[in-house]
Amino acid sequence: MALTAAQVAEQKKQVEELIAGSDVGFAKALFFGKFKGELLFPYPTLPAEKAVQAEAQAARVREYAERHIDAMKIDRDARIPDDVIAGLAALDVYRLTIPAEYGGLGFNQQMYLKTMEVFGGHDSSVAVFVNAHHSIGCRALVLFGTPEQQARWLPGLLDGTKLCAFALTEPEAGSDAGNVQTTARPTDDGEAYILDGVKQYITNGGIADVLTVMARTPAPTRDKPDATKITAFLVTPDMPGFEVLEARAEKCGIRGTATGKLRFTNMRVPKANILGPIGKGLKVALTVLDFGRTTFGASCTGHAKTALKAMVEHAKRRVQFQQPLAEFQLVQKKIAFAAAHTFAMEAATTQCAAFIDRGFEDYMLETAILKVFATEHLWTIINDAIQVWGGKAYFCDQPLERWMRDARINLIGEGANDVLKAFVAVVGCRGSGEYLKGLRDDVMGGRWSLRKLGAAIGVGASLVVPWATTGTPDVPVHSPDLHDDAHTLGKLIREFGLKLPHVFMELKDEAKFVQAQLVHERIADIAIDIYVSSCVLSRLDHLMGHAAENGKLVAKNADPYEDVAAGRYYLKMAFRRIRDRFAALDNNDDPSCLAAAQAMMAKV
Ligand SMILES: Cc1cc2nc3c(=O)[nH]c(=O)nc-3n(C[C@H](O)[C@H](O)[C@H](O)COP(=O)(O)OP(=O)(O)OC[C@H]3O[C@@H](n4cnc5c(N)ncnc54)[C@H](O)[C@@H]3O)c2cc1C
Repeated sequence: MALTAAQVAEQKKQVEELIAGSDVGFAKALFFGKFKGELLFPYPTLPAEKAVQAEAQAARVREYAERHIDAMKIDRDARIPDDVIAGLAALDVYRLTIPAEYGGLGFNQQMYLKTMEVFGGHDSSVAVFVNAHHSIGCRALVLFGTPEQQARWLPGLLDGTKLCAFALTEPEAGSDAGNVQTTARPTDDGEAYILDGVKQYITNGGIADVLTVMARTPAPTRDKPDATKITAFLVTPDMPGFEVLEARAEKCGIRGTATGKLRFTNMRVPKANILGPIGKGLKVALTVLDFGRTTFGASCTGHAKTALKAMVEHAKRRVQFQQPLAEFQLVQKKIAFAAAHTFAMEAATTQCAAFIDRGFEDYMLETAILKVFATEHLWTIINDAIQVWGGKAYFCDQPLERWMRDARINLIGEGANDVLKAFVAVVGCRGSGEYLKGLRDDVMGGRWSLRKLGAAIGVGASLVVPWATTGTPDVPVHSPDLHDDAHTLGKLIREFGLKLPHVFMELKDEAKFVQAQLVHERIADIAIDIYVSSCVLSRLDHLMGHAAENGKLVAKNADPYEDVAAGRYYLKMAFRRIRDRFAALDNNDDPSCLAAAQAMMAKV
């Protein structure tokens, strides 16, 4: 049964309304098969003055790092030397993101990330150390501190003599951040809270001077008098009851960072030290993590560039079978993969940073996507670099085995990638799922079955889903050379929007959807490649706008990683992966996979 023009127009209007709000960001709109092009195009660049300032800062840091930061020694000694900590202060590194009124440089996220990319490319320990101070330390104060708290704490954090830490993780609260057990009881006079609990795996935890600590405060309701919520507190190590159980746990990678375990016993914290609203600690944590994940993108990009450079240089230098390794296609394949994904990482990082700088409300899906994409592909790139280096990579006089140890934590920390993939799928699907649920409640009196719904009203299910009829979205590239790729992306986005209602139908009810992590992973992987392809097209369009008059592309500057061929190859790979995952939504081995896991778990 065909829809009339008026019905189609009405459905288009409904979709526009569903995705119009500023609370529906770019990635969420993709789940409706829509492309909010105005959020990604044109590719964001810094105003000239800020670009010069950010580049100059990054150049100073690069020069210093090359001369004074000995990554191998830091790894061996499991410590960042004091002279490096002081040297970074002389370069204003600790003031980068602190607002100017408190003596900082007031860098926005895009500016700050130029420097973080340099650290990521030089030494992951220093990158994590600096980032713990900024993204998850000072940032909590800048975003959630009262003017009094900011005036009291921020000026002390400018020169590296005082460090910050962010203490969320506990023995029973890892990925499940909501399961914090540390308690904060108000004192009888209401002037303070008494904290009790243990925090583990805290970067800078045992050496920090200011810690943002998450603890449970009472939040009684009529039905639940014992209910609690998580609240953020500013804690200093001089508070009686603060104990460092371990300041520097021995670990696999980023060994220069001090990862600590702490215990609080009857520790009195004045109520003036509550950061953000009472009971909103998780909001503080998640917002701060959004910034941290964007920084992950930058430091992974820096690291990926360094690994790519090492791979290419070694492949050109090393001769086997009378020819340089670089001439073998399977080596070239690894170089091409690394170049393509490094280009894509940078594009997605820049877009996420620009979302933050432009004051957008909704970018949590994008930062989760960026974190998963950058960390997963950096891991592959380093693995490939090790392969190309062969046995030489395995020895500790070369940096590659350290890169591997350093890069492994990225897939676990600040949200394990598995958890983030499920998050991307469930949160991304929420908008369209809620629409369908509303439809079910209105039309079917509460029974979740789109299939029955479609049958009941005598049409295919796609006709009750308004975004099924709105056509292929326009991906607004200017370069004629990119029109085909833009059109392909538009078609894949439309297919994504159409596919999801069918996925819900297959699973039949909400409870099953929430548990279906194998499906989540596919949905998330599709969303990740669609989102990153969108960023890559935006970046390519920007670069190809600089084509020379004779039609030959000229590099805008000397950056070898700003490479059009690499970006275009990423699109080809991403489109192929997306199609494969669409196919796997219908045709997969999930039952066998789960049966094998369960059989093994029953035996071991
Ligand atoms: C070097 C280092 C530095 C750190 N720095 C800090 C810091 O400064 N501050 C801080 O608060 N924390 C910090 N952490 C903690 C870090 O954020 C946690 O390790 C991380 O959140 C994972 O928690 P977990 O280690 O308890 O793993 P678990 O929660 O036990 O998870 C283990 C694995 O189980 C799987 N898994 C878990 N849940 C799910 C799910 N729902 N679905 C599917 N799979 C799942 C994932 O594969 C996951 O990797 C740091 C950790 C390390 C190692």
